[in-house]
Amino acid sequence: EIRLREVCKSYGHYQVLNNINADVSRGEVVVICGPSGSGKSTLIRTVNRLEEINSGSISFEGKNIHAPMGAAELNRLRSRIGFVFQNFNLFPHLSVVDNVSMSPIRVKGVSAKVAREKAIALLHRVGLADRANSYPGQLSGGQQQRVAIARALAMEPPVMLFDEPTSALDPEMVGEVLSVMKSLAAEGMTMLCVTHEMGFARDVADRIWFIDAGEILETAPPEEFFKNPRHPRAQRFLSDLR
Ligand code: ATP
Ligand code: MG
Repeated sequence: EIRLREVCKSYGHYQVLNNINADVSRGEVVVICGPSGSGKSTLIRTVNRLEEINSGSISFEGKNIHAPMGAAELNRLRSRIGFVFQNFNLFPHLSVVDNVSMSPIRVKGVSAKVAREKAIALLHRVGLADRANSYPGQLSGGQQQRVAIARALAMEPPVMLFDEPTSALDPEMVGEVLSVMKSLAAEGMTMLCVTHEMGFARDVADRIWFIDAGEILETAPPEEFFKNPRHPRAQRFLSDLR
């Protein structure tokens, strides 16, 4: 469903992504892991073109996301790819339910009534229906992140991207966010996740991409990757975690 081919990106002379070739198939859950500064965020952000690339292509549903296109077409493509950030990025001046229903109303032209009903259903799904009329500032970090997931889901994207969705959270809130992600995966969502939660990677991922210095050095199913990493740098990365 997502194909990355010979993707390269530099900041000045510094090459952040070096010839990335990888695929995510429909329904697959991929966890990207690797050391700090290895290019994980840059990589995942190129997939919905929050970052431009210097060469190569990234196609989704058969279209090159990095081909020249107008703003309207890019927005349409982006609306098919949900993105969840480390820092939630909710609109502070909108209630929870308005955060979730805003994009379908604005971008898809869904009626306010239908969008609101759908938003409430999504809030049920992430366990927050009772907070529909709260404001983001009144919620815990874990609750805000679950609202952010519901907001992304409101556009009914076939793919969801997550960039360290739990790393800004207090430890006691990590589980509630991971369990929402786990249930999404169980429902067959195609997911590309950057996370340091190796338990989640082990239990939920179909495939791990190990990236270091802008290169994917190894891709393997988690059982293989954690038991028998082949690349020496993957071996070192895993032994440093323990
Ligand atoms: P972390 O685990 O700390 O989040 P990461 O793997 O997500 O790290 P990136 O944020 O993708 O790493 O950054 C990769 C490299 O690119 C880093 O060396 C970073 O300093 C550099 N970099 C990122 N953004 C920019 C920028 N806007 N300008 C210049 N260099 C940048
Ligand atoms: Mg990062």
